[in-house]
Amino acid sequence: MNLNSMRSMWLYVVSLALLSFALASCGSSSLDKQQREAQLSQQLTQAVLWHQNAGERDALCHQAFNLATLRVDQYLSNDDKKENPIVIVDIDETIVDNSPFQAQAVKSDFMYPNYWHEWVETASAEALPGAVDFLNYASDNGIGVYYISNRSEKNREATLKNLKNLGFPKVQDEKLFLKKKHAVKDSLRKELSANNEIVLLIGDNLDDFSNVFKHQSVDKRLGAVDSLKALFGDKFIVTPNAMYGDWEGAIYSFEYAKSQEEKNKIRKAHLKGFDVGQ
Ligand SMILES: [Mg+2]
Repeated sequence: MNLNSMRSMWLYVVSLALLSFALASCGSSSLDKQQREAQLSQQLTQAVLWHQNAGERDALCHQAFNLATLRVDQYLSNDDKKENPIVIVDIDETIVDNSPFQAQAVKSDFMYPNYWHEWVETASAEALPGAVDFLNYASDNGIGVYYISNRSEKNREATLKNLKNLGFPKVQDEKLFLKKKHAVKDSLRKELSANNEIVLLIGDNLDDFSNVFKHQSVDKRLGAVDSLKALFGDKFIVTPNAMYGDWEGAIYSFEYAKSQEEKNKIRKAHLKGFDVGQ
């Protein structure tokens, strides 16, 4: 073998080794990412099981909408009613159940926002217990219904179809406000309150009620709930959602781009235990 042949052979061996190393690193890093996502998605298991199997979840929904009905009845029996009474409802985990999306995230080890668009486009979310009856009752009694959601505009048709199929009232373009570029629930509430009397706000997330909760720390959210406690069950009706929400964002200081490891550490750090002497 001459010098040139030896050099070519050596270069070939080195290239092959580098290529194998690159492929191995690439494979392991994507595998690591999948494993980390799998760990976090697995932590959803109990919350999703509760949403799909606990009678208590349904009971809490009925409790919320029974109370909402009572507040509507109180409003209707009031002598000094204002003009244009309305209720404003959020959609996800307030009147429809997206737990099949969360369940599939656990089963297939993916995390939001992966496959969210695909799920919403199926238009197959079921109504939460009591929601359809309550909103029809309000609507039949002259109370307007507005739907304000952080769903994307690109899901408008599927959302209208899903809500209509479930029998919700006043499912029309002009009654459905979806997120455009940024979430603007508070400005929409202000806009609607200019010409309407807001009888009730119904939601699963504190941001569905007031801007005072928006992007606040865990402690500030807890403090704000305490200071506004008289409004819950009165003007604000809360539906249960243990699967996701701003409560989780607050734990991460709303830095959703943190790595899976960081999020996992932060989750553990927020668990308040007790001293077992170890
Ligand atoms: Mg919601």
